Amino acid sequence: MEFRDLKKQYAILKPQIDAAVATVLADGNYISGSCVQSFEKELATYVGRKHCISCANGTDALVLALKAFGAGPNHAIFVPDFTFFATAECVSIVGATPIFVDVDKDTFNMCPKSLEAAIEEVKKQGKLLPFAVIPVDLFGLLANYTEICQKAKQHKLLVLEDAAQGFGASFNGKMACSFGNISSLSFFPAKPLGCYGDGGAVFTDDDDVAALLRSLAVHGKGQDKYDNVRIGYNSRLDTIQAAILQVKLLAFPKELALTQKAADAYTALLQKSVCTPTLPPGHTSSFAQYTIKLNSEKQREQVAAALKANGIPTNIYYPRTMQNQTAYKNSPGGKMVPCPNANALCQNVLSLPMHPYLTLEDIEKVSQAVLCAL
Ligand SMILES: *Cc1c(COP(=O)(O)O)cnc(C)c1O
Repeated sequence: MEFRDLKKQYAILKPQIDAAVATVLADGNYISGSCVQSFEKELATYVGRKHCISCANGTDALVLALKAFGAGPNHAIFVPDFTFFATAECVSIVGATPIFVDVDKDTFNMCPKSLEAAIEEVKKQGKLLPFAVIPVDLFGLLANYTEICQKAKQHKLLVLEDAAQGFGASFNGKMACSFGNISSLSFFPAKPLGCYGDGGAVFTDDDDVAALLRSLAVHGKGQDKYDNVRIGYNSRLDTIQAAILQVKLLAFPKELALTQKAADAYTALLQKSVCTPTLPPGHTSSFAQYTIKLNSEKQREQVAAALKANGIPTNIYYPRTMQNQTAYKNSPGGKMVPCPNANALCQNVLSLPMHPYLTLEDIEKVSQAVLCAL
């Protein structure tokens, strides 16, 4: 059994993907070919944003967004303590300071109360200016934007939605990549919408911000590419990847429905015995991960070992909080607020195989193995 079966997806979409790639190869416009533009339009329409600007990967998407915000030294940027490293890394790359905020123990997403406490603490210390917040749509569930955006407004913070794992999720019909001032997306192969290499995108409804993002992504270009008006990056989505993504985007709604069906099947089999993913009212999840919570680190070890013995792969997302990463050991943004939930999750979470092409048999086999190991 595969943790995420990318080969099966390719086998199903092979005729269309091979044809799309062949068209690009024959066309010869390997950078900024016409399908990059058409893909950006299709993606903006899907998520309900005015602008989509593609780039080289999801980490660059975050960096470009922060650069467009004007983030830099002396800025405090609030990030969840329980996420993938890039969410904090981008802050450090632009010279600002990540402030680590606790997460909700049920949704695993940034806790608005902890955010409030962290903002107050930064203000009290008086060394950094509270500047922006980066809520993450962890494991495919949208963050609590209702409360986070309200606090952001109150404290004049910019909001950057890290939707790397959220693509396809919604809250009251509003799609991931449409929250906050800018949203960022990753097309890393294992993400909900993955390409066959690295890729990413940023989204905004603001025309000026969109123009700035486009300039930043291509060497700070002005009127044309040999007119450089600012220091930027070389961060573009390859034409081949855009062509592949166009095929995958067409298949995505069906795949999303299959993924959600697989999640429902897991939940039905497991919810009496273990803590299964929470879906607050109004939310749909893209289930980038199906993550259960065990009672202890020891029980998690036991379950993971039993699954492994049955040929079932599992992963721990994430074994370490951000502020416990070696790179952030002495960071001033650590220990601003207590993060007990983030620490507990690192010991208790376990992600099970999850993808659109899991069979009911697979799901039953995994669930049986989990239940037997408890
Ligand atoms: C994957 C991921 C990123 C980074 O995306 P890359 O394309 O790998 O650079 C950023 N944030 C989160 C939450 C992610 O899961």
